[in-house]
Amino acid sequence: MKLYNTKTKQVETLVTHTPHHVEMYTCGPTVYHYAHIGNLRTYMMEDVLERYLIFEGNTVNRVMNITDVGHLTSDADTGEDKMLKGAKREHKTVMEIAAFYRDAFFEDCRKLNIKKPDTVVPATSCIDDFIRTIEGLLEKGFAYIAGGNIYFDTSKIKEYYTLTSHAAEDLKVGVRDDVSEDGNKRNKSDFVLWFTKSKFDDQELKWDSPWGVGYPGWHIECSCISMVHQGEYLDLHCGGVDNIFPHHTNEIAQSEAFLGHEWCGHWFHVHHLNDESGKMSKSKGEFLTVSLLESKGYDPLAYRYFCLESHYRKPLTFSFEGLDNAAKAYNKLINRIAAIEPEGACDAAVFSRYYNDVRTAVGNDLNTAMAITLLYNILKEKTSGNTKRAVIDIIDQVLALSLLKKADAKRKEAADAARAKAEAEAALHRDDPEAEAIEALIRERAEAKKAKNYARADEIRAELLARGIVLTDTAQGTTWARQ
Ligand code: AMP
Ligand code: ZN
Repeated sequence: MKLYNTKTKQVETLVTHTPHHVEMYTCGPTVYHYAHIGNLRTYMMEDVLERYLIFEGNTVNRVMNITDVGHLTSDADTGEDKMLKGAKREHKTVMEIAAFYRDAFFEDCRKLNIKKPDTVVPATSCIDDFIRTIEGLLEKGFAYIAGGNIYFDTSKIKEYYTLTSHAAEDLKVGVRDDVSEDGNKRNKSDFVLWFTKSKFDDQELKWDSPWGVGYPGWHIECSCISMVHQGEYLDLHCGGVDNIFPHHTNEIAQSEAFLGHEWCGHWFHVHHLNDESGKMSKSKGEFLTVSLLESKGYDPLAYRYFCLESHYRKPLTFSFEGLDNAAKAYNKLINRIAAIEPEGACDAAVFSRYYNDVRTAVGNDLNTAMAITLLYNILKEKTSGNTKRAVIDIIDQVLALSLLKKADAKRKEAADAARAKAEAEAALHRDDPEAEAIEALIRERAEAKKAKNYARADEIRAELLARGIVLTDTAQGTTWARQ
């Protein structure tokens, strides 16, 4: 497939180390609070990407970390540990907070049809691997000890700013220079691999290390977890755009310093979902979660539809008005699919045309909006119901909007209601001595209508009316009652 690569700044073919197999890594959530729907936009687009790679015939090994230690409130090495902040807020232990919000995250993912990655690894389960990698970096001269902490020395590598320009990041550092610089650092861009000299004496989780009791920095976890579960070569690394710097920049620096060769060739980043005030927040204003959307009556998949209507490489502004429109369109789409009669053979020519169209749309930098347009196109196509359903099925293998499942549930609901109505009617007429004869005439009338013999159909209606019996035609069939 063709996919924008943040590293080369162009849309290019995704090249993997093993043909038809993709080693894909996803930066997982920091489980100190619920995920907001912005975080979930990123995971949803990564999910579409994985589904599409499978659709194309690849196998995918997807690995995700769960950050339960080391992510400070600033993505640089300043501020408080987010996990500790969450634990204090709720008067619980860090591990209790981590377990609760990890489960809540996967529950939100389930509601949004976001597949759980094959391998999910909490950072706290890999401390020995982090220590081993940091020892390797110290041995190779890429790291140093200062003031009790271990730092990565960014001056020791050829090119540190591989994903962004130096100037752009320097500018940003200048802007956020409200935080005091760490005097232990040899270079401004150096980052912490292991903290022992913590400013936070109340840091709850600490481990023994060759450098004293402490805890890992945030960036080392993703590099190590990927190397342990995916080996020395990664094909595709994913995250939100805020991860580009410093997190992914630091991941590349330490992984390539440790391995001595290029680590990952393709970097996929999803742009942010913003609210109307500008930035999604977990602390200020309305905290937009999947549960909040549900409490307001929205189907979480209407939010998925809302996201898929836009390209992942454009910032998206969330508003309830926008979500209302998406929810209406999504419901209408399901109703139209429910109205398709599953009849006729599947037209192979139409099917393969749409199969290619899906590849053209989604296989070209994940154009999900175009894939949605294909759904509307097939609904208008002059072809059998079963062709339409087969095409909808393949498009939805990638979009995962549960279209046929929801449409079939609607059809079943309607059929159950019709059956219940017919049964109620049969019960009503059970003691009527003429019921059998009347129903035979109603069946005859239906046959006559089918054969376009409207004269006979009208005759039967008139004959029954003359006997005081009124017929009512409904979508589910004809009912009768005595006047
Ligand atoms: P975190 O739990 O803060 O580590 O973030 C989880 C994921 O959400 C990361 O991949 C972030 O890049 C991504 N993310 C954070 N904020 C947003 C946002 N407003 N819109 C989309 N993705 C986001
Ligand atoms: Zn990461």
